[in-house]
Amino acid sequence: MSQEQQPQRKKIAATEQMMKIMSEYFYDLNDAGQSAIRKVAWCTSVGPAELLRAMGFAVHFPENHAAMLGATRMATTLIPEANTIGYSPDICSYLTADIGAYLKGTSPLAKAYPGIEAPPRPDVLVFNTNQCRDVQDWFSWYAKELNVPCIGITSPKNFTEVSDILIDDVSRQIEALIPALEEISGAPLNMQRLRETVALSRECTELWRQVLETAASAPAPLTFFDGTIHMGPAVVLRGTRQAVDYYRQLLAELEQRIADRIGAVDDEQYRIYWEGMPIWGRLRQHSELFAGLHASVLVSTYCSSWIFPDFNADEPIRSMAKAYLGLFIVRSDAYKENYIKRMLEKFQIDGIIYHDAKTCPCNSNSRYGMPQRVEQETGIPSLVISGDLNDLRCVSDEQTRTNVEAFIEQLEERRC
Ligand code: SF4
Repeated sequence: MSQEQQPQRKKIAATEQMMKIMSEYFYDLNDAGQSAIRKVAWCTSVGPAELLRAMGFAVHFPENHAAMLGATRMATTLIPEANTIGYSPDICSYLTADIGAYLKGTSPLAKAYPGIEAPPRPDVLVFNTNQCRDVQDWFSWYAKELNVPCIGITSPKNFTEVSDILIDDVSRQIEALIPALEEISGAPLNMQRLRETVALSRECTELWRQVLETAASAPAPLTFFDGTIHMGPAVVLRGTRQAVDYYRQLLAELEQRIADRIGAVDDEQYRIYWEGMPIWGRLRQHSELFAGLHASVLVSTYCSSWIFPDFNADEPIRSMAKAYLGLFIVRSDAYKENYIKRMLEKFQIDGIIYHDAKTCPCNSNSRYGMPQRVEQETGIPSLVISGDLNDLRCVSDEQTRTNVEAFIEQLEERRC
């Protein structure tokens, strides 16, 4: 495709407000880290953030930091630092990039937010293995290195239904965290505050769902690549008023785009589903590659993972257990396939891209025949691209481009 044909990427005006609230979040976190009074908890991205927030902790999410290392393309040179202390290049490149950054004493926060040098030192590390075991290994390393307690939830895996037995199990594990957290925070859990926090998370997640579902319109007003950026508040600020207010603003803008028939991609011809992790260091290139082919990658499992319809302020702990058990990544292939099939229909999808991320097997669903089974049942073709979330040594730009171009041609031929 020639330069003249290259469609323009459309800027979302709400981005400015998102950057403002993210900046406030990071400066507040930094202040908490420097304060003698406020306590800092590190939490996995789908860990019990509501509980921590309700107990007054400032909450840092190392996966968010690791994704920033990926997006700024710092990760690839930092990963070997973690390899030298025994963490294989084949395991989670969020883990290896983040530990590598710590060992090297560097952080993308320093460049983005003058005055911040690094993530704040934790008073406690809280994990949930609902996504993978790597998060526990990751936090355990920091626990030893920084001599801080590491507690968490060991989640069941590969189930199809979220049964009462599973919810009971995880609820009890969440309750068991409370005494330790009370001791560290120095105050008892205020159940009313927890209810309010869960209610805010519910509101945030509902708005985030509505934001993502605007992409069911044709043309879709936002892409997966936009979503990876705008999901920031849903990850690090769920349970706060700021996140709720932000998603109202973003939703209004996207609804206006729908009313004006403005697509995120000019002359949208093909509608694509992205399954798996983003390649953080290639977001812009991939966004431009697909837009240049008039293909809108408009929905993904990844961004939808922060939709938690089960939060309920009347049953805060039990509903947190249910919500975090409902996560796509922790479910059986049977559940995942049904979920993907529903999404293909709802968003009128022409083709699926599966990203086989070298260091994240849990979020790479192309390895056990799923693309073939889904295609057999839906007739919707797919392409598997090899890469990684953070380690760009696993990414072949040329091969990705060639394969994506051939895939879009294949979609075109199917219409003839
Ligand atoms: S789900 Fe994948 S990317 Fe996320 S922490 Fe686990 S291994 Fe890393």
